[in-house]
Amino acid sequence: MSVRPILVYGDPRLEAVNAPVEIFDQELEVLVDDMFETGWRAPGLGLAAPQVGVNLRLATVDLSVGKDSDQKIVLANPEIIETSGKISLEEGCLSFPGLFTTILRPRELVISAQDLAGAPLELEASGLLAQAICHEIDHLDGRLLVNHLRGIKKKMFLRRVAKMRKTGVWSA
Ligand SMILES: [Zn+2]
Repeated sequence: MSVRPILVYGDPRLEAVNAPVEIFDQELEVLVDDMFETGWRAPGLGLAAPQVGVNLRLATVDLSVGKDSDQKIVLANPEIIETSGKISLEEGCLSFPGLFTTILRPRELVISAQDLAGAPLELEASGLLAQAICHEIDHLDGRLLVNHLRGIKKKMFLRRVAKMRKTGVWSA
């Protein structure tokens, strides 16, 4: 396993089109292992493949951040099937290091996806897990935190981004 560099906002790969995962081979297993390792080290609750520069519809989620292997979730080609309720939640992103904003998310959702072996799976989630999954699926659609914001809120967020860049807190 190795830690890969996480791309920060501004890198075009974060907003590029992500191709479906079609080949479930050893190379994919290595990528997934690296994504978990990279997420744990960051630390973060999840990671999407485009964040490590791989434009595939693939994400990892681990709310335990490496403490409990039963909580490791691999989502290949995830799709939201159903959502219910809305909740405003504070959210950060490893591609916007140090920044947080509030975003409207579904309270509960059902998704379909494929696991690391390509087998279909269906998952119901609520709370933090639902939020993390939504966040990662957004990445696979090239949708970033900033794309959820409008008007003055967006302007202020982008000002904070510019400040982060200037102070060198963002290494990339
Ligand atoms: Zn993110």
